[in-house]
Amino acid sequence: MSTSAISSEVLLEDNKIHLTNYSDDEIGDDHLFTGVETPMRPDAFLKTDEEKMSIIEQHFKAIMDTLGLDLTDDSLKGTPHRVAKMYVQEIFSGLNPANKPKIALFENKYQYNQMLVEKDISFYSNCEHHFVPLFGRAHVAYISSGKIIGLSKLNRIVNYFARRPQVQERLTVQIGQEIMRLLNTEHVAVVVDAKHLCVSSRGIKDITSSTVTSFYNGNFSQDNFRNEFLQYINNSRTS
Ligand SMILES: [Zn+2]
Repeated sequence: MSTSAISSEVLLEDNKIHLTNYSDDEIGDDHLFTGVETPMRPDAFLKTDEEKMSIIEQHFKAIMDTLGLDLTDDSLKGTPHRVAKMYVQEIFSGLNPANKPKIALFENKYQYNQMLVEKDISFYSNCEHHFVPLFGRAHVAYISSGKIIGLSKLNRIVNYFARRPQVQERLTVQIGQEIMRLLNTEHVAVVVDAKHLCVSSRGIKDITSSTVTSFYNGNFSQDNFRNEFLQYINNSRTS
């Protein structure tokens, strides 16, 4: 069962929740969100990356200018361009399906039919409510239905979905669903443990809390599989 406020089960049934009873401040500070799919407009990729960077640069310049910053200062003058480039090419590059990692699958020649666990996958993402970092570790597991995947590819999948404005619950479910789809297996588990700078550096200013979310499907819905997975990720931490 997910520890998040909105469970993955609810989201899978009803992919779009309306938050009409909440103010924008409540939605942000309570990190409520509307569905598993990242809300995108149909025309999201009509502009090229270069066009997007140029527009974002102008808008970010306006934000800095409005704050009263002197954009002729040598330290600041390149910031709008740097931010635009970072948004489009790095930290939000996972919005564009063209940047989805190309994943080759292999036959499960060794007939390994136990769970495969890849733990402590570091990721950096950004909260979609505040556009400040949320970061931590993801732990993923699957049981093969005949195909296997290179281990580094699990890492790449996590980081592809992390490079979007996110909420942690959605990130968790998007990773889980993608691994199910790619490997054509029902048996997938994902646990994400993350810190949110919007919680630690502003708002409630809690610097010690972290948020854990989970996605369990197939055999991982059963206690024995789930417990085995949790034992692997809780034991023998290497760092
Ligand atoms: Zn936030």
